[in-house]
Amino acid sequence: MKKKLIAGNWKMNGSTATNAALVQQLLAGVGQAACDIAVCVPAPYLAGVEALVKGSAIAVGAQDVSAYDAGAYTGEVSASMLRDLGVRYAIVGHSERRQYHGETDAVVANKAQKALAAGITPIVCVGETLQEREAGLTEEVVKRQLAAVIHTNGHCISEIVVAYEPVWAIGTGKTASPEQAQQVHAVLRAQLHAATEHSDRVQILYGGSMNAANAAQLLGQADIDGGLVGGASLKAPDFLSIIAAAV
Ligand code: 13P
Repeated sequence: MKKKLIAGNWKMNGSTATNAALVQQLLAGVGQAACDIAVCVPAPYLAGVEALVKGSAIAVGAQDVSAYDAGAYTGEVSASMLRDLGVRYAIVGHSERRQYHGETDAVVANKAQKALAAGITPIVCVGETLQEREAGLTEEVVKRQLAAVIHTNGHCISEIVVAYEPVWAIGTGKTASPEQAQQVHAVLRAQLHAATEHSDRVQILYGGSMNAANAAQLLGQADIDGGLVGGASLKAPDFLSIIAAAV
């Protein structure tokens, strides 16, 4: 059976001092985890956190990656730079970037492509807004978002991680029920299956108010292969409980 992946998304939080304290607690508590583990940290802290976790079970991820290779793109961080720092994952297409930074499906697909080309695993985020869910558009939206990435990346598609993050569940304390999440995960799995014979290997994570109390039930669903954890990843005991639930 494939391992689950528990990835923390720290978003725009932390400092050199608080990162060190958090990582230290995680390293002390993680033990022999059954799952893959990553922390996706703000760009300025990538190298520092990578140095702290080096040789441990915890991998480092970025929260974004440029859609360009190199050159006159002020403020951007390229996939090869991430690779150079030892970064293993990059979140692409998080709903906060789609919403606040105007990222389109095409941009997200290019970012995933650049990550894959550099040997970084993109964590491709898809998810519907509350309005879209209420209009019955959930499947259509997530399929469109994933299709853009599949269409651009063709045969590499089994190398991605997918994260289903219903926008209405992010940071709201409102979690999708395990059944609601599983239903969408099954749709995504079927879409991956149609695109690659290795679809079973793709980890499909759930994200949106996952916490120590609800993780086990969500992670117990057939097509939920892990979690992308926001708020709860900033508290070591909570994140460690979620890791322990990922068996
Ligand atoms: P919360 O866990 O804080 O709801 O955030 C989820 C998320 O957006 C992870 O990428």
